Amino acid sequence: MNINDLTHASQEIGIELTETMQKQLITYASLLKEWNEKINLTAITEESEVMEKHFYDCILALRLVNPGNEMADVGTGAGFPGLVFKIVRPELNVTLLEPTEKKCSFLNEVIRQLDLKGVTVVNERAEDYAKNHRESFDLVTARAVAALPVLAELCVPLVKMNGTFLAMKGSKGKDEAREAQDGVAKLGCDGKDFHEDHLLSNQDERYNLVYVKHRHTPPQYPRIYSKIKKKPLQ
Ligand code: SAM
Repeated sequence: MNINDLTHASQEIGIELTETMQKQLITYASLLKEWNEKINLTAITEESEVMEKHFYDCILALRLVNPGNEMADVGTGAGFPGLVFKIVRPELNVTLLEPTEKKCSFLNEVIRQLDLKGVTVVNERAEDYAKNHRESFDLVTARAVAALPVLAELCVPLVKMNGTFLAMKGSKGKDEAREAQDGVAKLGCDGKDFHEDHLLSNQDERYNLVYVKHRHTPPQYPRIYSKIKKKPLQ
């Protein structure tokens, strides 16, 4: 997939990529390749694969939600999906949470080169960040960070009342949604839309889960990470 294919495929699902956005995505892909030679950011670096497996994947998920004004991406890594959402929806204020310092340096360089405003990179774990930023975001999202029973406890405490939690999942998403059902409800969210999709060329399965927060998260969550991991909420 090249940038023209990506633009066309995005248009087909109702997302317009302007010329500025296309240029920003091309620069982002080339920075990803360049930096990946120095630090381990992603296994996918060929531009055609980046366009489909990173960018198109994120755009597929973006079209399922109304991101509101403030969004957080938990465990953003090299910026997925948070930076792609920011490029495609420039009016959004985006907070990128990433505990690995080197990845934060990369994110700051992309933000600088693309001249993006309204993006904050936070070098912290989500469960620590939640201590001072509970229920602050209209949308909290994550891709490839943890299984849903763990992920929900990292993300949902950050979601505002009536805000959205979007978990981007692959083929295991359906099972994880079942396992996490009661835990997610304890955290205050209800399932709204579970959306099955696939990438274009290889038909890779995608399962994007959209939850809405209807009740405040009880103050005991999130617990410390060792407890979340040892005894995921059920
Ligand atoms: N979301 C990106 C993507 O889809 O390419 C990165 C995925 S990478 C496999 C998982 C990332 O989650 C890592 O960069 C890691 O540092 C981060 N991470 C792990 N535990 C975390 C936590 N408790 N809070 C925030 N980020 C976390």
